[in-house]
Amino acid sequence: MKILIVGTGYVGTTTGLVFCEMGHQVTGLDLDDKKIQALKEGNLHFYEPGLDKLLQKHVAAKQITFTKDTESAVNEHDVIFICVGTPQSADGSADLSYVQNVAETIGTYMNRYKVIVTKSTVPVGTADLVRQWVSRKQTTSIPFDVVSNPEFLREGSALHDALNPDRIVIGTTSNKAKKVMRELYQTFTCPILETNPKASEMIKYASNSFLAAKISFINELSRLCDVLNIHVNDVSAGMGLDHRIGPHFLKAGIGYGGSCFPKDVSALIKTAKDHKLPLSILESVGKVNAEQPLFLLTKMKEVLGGDLKNKTIAVLGLAFKANTDDTRESPSLVLVERLAAEKANIKIHDPVAKTKAYPQSETIEEAAAKADAIVICTDWDQYKQVDWEQLKPLMNQPIIIDGRNMLDKDKLQRLGFTYIGIAN
Ligand code: NAD
Repeated sequence: MKILIVGTGYVGTTTGLVFCEMGHQVTGLDLDDKKIQALKEGNLHFYEPGLDKLLQKHVAAKQITFTKDTESAVNEHDVIFICVGTPQSADGSADLSYVQNVAETIGTYMNRYKVIVTKSTVPVGTADLVRQWVSRKQTTSIPFDVVSNPEFLREGSALHDALNPDRIVIGTTSNKAKKVMRELYQTFTCPILETNPKASEMIKYASNSFLAAKISFINELSRLCDVLNIHVNDVSAGMGLDHRIGPHFLKAGIGYGGSCFPKDVSALIKTAKDHKLPLSILESVGKVNAEQPLFLLTKMKEVLGGDLKNKTIAVLGLAFKANTDDTRESPSLVLVERLAAEKANIKIHDPVAKTKAYPQSETIEEAAAKADAIVICTDWDQYKQVDWEQLKPLMNQPIIIDGRNMLDKDKLQRLGFTYIGIAN
């Protein structure tokens, strides 16, 4: 099948390459010149393990091509995936302007029947809106169907997730579109849930909100564990062994971030508000998450004598989680901004994520030099491999604040470090 992917970001590029792996012919369309140019040359414009090799393979085989020519792209493809961003608006809702723009473009240029698939995360009712936006731009009435097909991949393991999904959700009332979608996904062995567009759209928000709730649950509990002197990691392990609960998203840390959970929780709350129904659990989920980096900050202040002014703090990790360069809504940045407000000297290290706002060190050693404390903000594997014995003499004070509960506390204490974790 020939597929057009509109929006070649994290989701669009991954989705397109996975469809190539399934034997389909893919075109990626984006408005961003630089991204299209890089992708054409087989260069990924973001960091995602394993994806660069797949891109090079399918670019070389001409299984995937990239373009900025919207009119030809829409004309030549009968299945069009919308994979553009849906960032958070000022009122908490999802900003649908990019989706609207794509839908209107499709309406303007379509020449024959199309299946228009929304992969972007969009609020309940968006499939109807897409239908209206497309129709309004048509000069002659050409039939088309709109399908909701949300994406569940995680940055950092996007390729694995997209190749091995737990489920595929297809939301449409059209039998013709259903047939096309079944054919598209025929090589996948996971369950395929067919439902209507609204339920499909809700499944995505419900899933992300539930996972965010799990994280905030254990994070809030970690504060109680902290005062009761209980290791929250043991509690997570004990809970996670119960198959009704499961171990995932149950690790205490400095809070969730990224381009999905914060905005999706907020958008679902806004949808509920628009219908005068409070989602009180989710409101608490967001509140707990906003507090969690500050919980760590308080602990940092305690160990550093109550005042962070002129203290040198080495922040290890800027990305919102390991194996990505994405810093959108990163709790690390929240902490960094608070440290700046406290007038601390901040040194940042991250293996791939970049910031221009603060001094960034090339190496962990450079960041740790003369530091009064190191704070681990992202669970990069390489932070587990650090030779702490060698690093210790570089520091002003051997203090480690482990915002991910990922280091060996006993070992660090044996080496003479003061170790502060999250109830760890
Ligand atoms: P992104 O910002 O990485 O990519 C979006 C791309 O769309 C950009 O390259 C942008 O230039 C392009 N674009 C915008 N308007 C366009 C237009 N009119 N025509 C062509 N291209 C256009 O976003 P992302 O992280 O890939 O997320 C896309 C959607 O998928 C969002 O709704 C997000 O919530 C959802 N999602 C993201 C993830 C994730 O982990 N990133 C996972 C699941 C779902």
